[in-house]
Formats: sequence, structure tokens, C-alpha cells
Amino acid sequence: MSQQENWYLPYMDKKVKGIEVVERPAQVAVFYCTGASNVGQSTVLGGNEAARRLGYDRAALLCLASISAGLKNISRAAAEAKGIVAVDGCPMQCARRTLEKAGFNVEESLVVTRDCNVPKSFILEDAAAITNVADAIVARVEKIETEK
Ligand code: SF4
Repeated sequence: MSQQENWYLPYMDKKVKGIEVVERPAQVAVFYCTGASNVGQSTVLGGNEAARRLGYDRAALLCLASISAGLKNISRAAAEAKGIVAVDGCPMQCARRTLEKAGFNVEESLVVTRDCNVPKSFILEDAAAITNVADAIVARVEKIETEK
């Protein structure tokens, strides 16, 4: 398995299907809102950078839309994760609210406009916040690791 592979989701997919896997320690699950604004897009790009820095044995990027769709592999991945970070672009907090509506406990919530001090705009190429967002995600993953 490659160090660059976001392996937790295909691993959990096999478990849900009853395919034998070598058990691995749980990581922190990171869900991001993927909004159609500069701050929404920064949740995707910042999440990718944070996972690259931490490594995929510590942070798993998971699909928020699959929670809404009720897919079993994602639901089990979220339930068995070490903890959950919800990364949202703005105070609407679509990621956090979607997860909580589905019954999950969100240990750490990051809101880019609030916590990274980035005003919301609809210039999607505005990449200025990505490093700040990645730093903030890394800090929240490390906080959960320290507490559990
Ligand atoms: S949290 Fe804000 S930026 Fe993200 S999807 Fe919701 S409305 Fe869009």
C-alpha cells in the first residue's frame, strides 16, 4: 500500500463487503464541505495538503456526500475512526451539520472564515488560504490524537 494512498475508504469498503483485510489502527477522519466559494474550495485543497503532511496512516479524507447518501462504507469508516474533524468554509457549517444529522459526533470543527480569518468570496481560484487551512486541520487532527 503506497504512503500516498488515501487507503482507509477502500479498506473499509472491503470490510463492509466481508472481504478479509489486515487490521490497521484507526486514523482521524476528515470531512470537508467542498463548497462552491473560495473558502469552500480551500477545504478540499487544504485537506489534501494536511493529509499529505500528516500521512494517510494518521488522517483519512472521507466523502461528505456519501454520508448524505447513506453509504455503508463511509458510515462505518466514520463510526470506527479515532475521531472526526469537520472542515467548513463558512458559518453554514454544512459538513458539521450533515455529520451530526447522520448521528455522528464531531470532535473538532474548523470554519475557514472564522478560524483562518478568510473572508468568503466567489473567486474560486483564490488559493491564499490553503496553507492556513492545512495548518489548522493538522492542528485539529493532532489534538484528537493527543486526547485519545
Ligand atoms: S459550509 Fe459554506 S462554503 Fe461550505 S458548502 Fe456550506 S455554504 Fe458552502
